[in-house]
Amino acid sequence: MDYNEMLKKARETMPEISISKSRFEVPEPNVANQGKKTVLLNFNKITEYIQRDTDDILKFLTRELATSAVIEGHKAVFTGKFSRKQIADKINRYVSMYVKCGECGRFETKLKKEDRITYMECMACGAKKPVIV
Ligand SMILES: [Zn+2]
Repeated sequence: MDYNEMLKKARETMPEISISKSRFEVPEPNVANQGKKTVLLNFNKITEYIQRDTDDILKFLTRELATSAVIEGHKAVFTGKFSRKQIADKINRYVSMYVKCGECGRFETKLKKEDRITYMECMACGAKKPVIV
């Protein structure tokens, strides 16, 4: 078997990579206004889907919306009135900053802390870059 044949053989036996999650669709935020508060009813579904720390995401959202929030069971309750779109925009922003790989555009990334610097590492292409959290 020559080199090219070996290469061909190796490719044939390689596991299919493209079956991994190529579409990334964060669940639509389910938002309800309750008086002066805004309740994000499916907060847990969203955090589970994007696989990031609940506190990190909540911290980001409250900072972006310039308000405070508490977690109540599966829900996040924000002080103030926000529309579904406002919340969705912030979640999308979080995803593009902390989940989407800037190199290959995929979403198989994780955050890693090293010497007080947080890095986003991509499982798909191996890119690693520091992010501000
Ligand atoms: Zn990547």
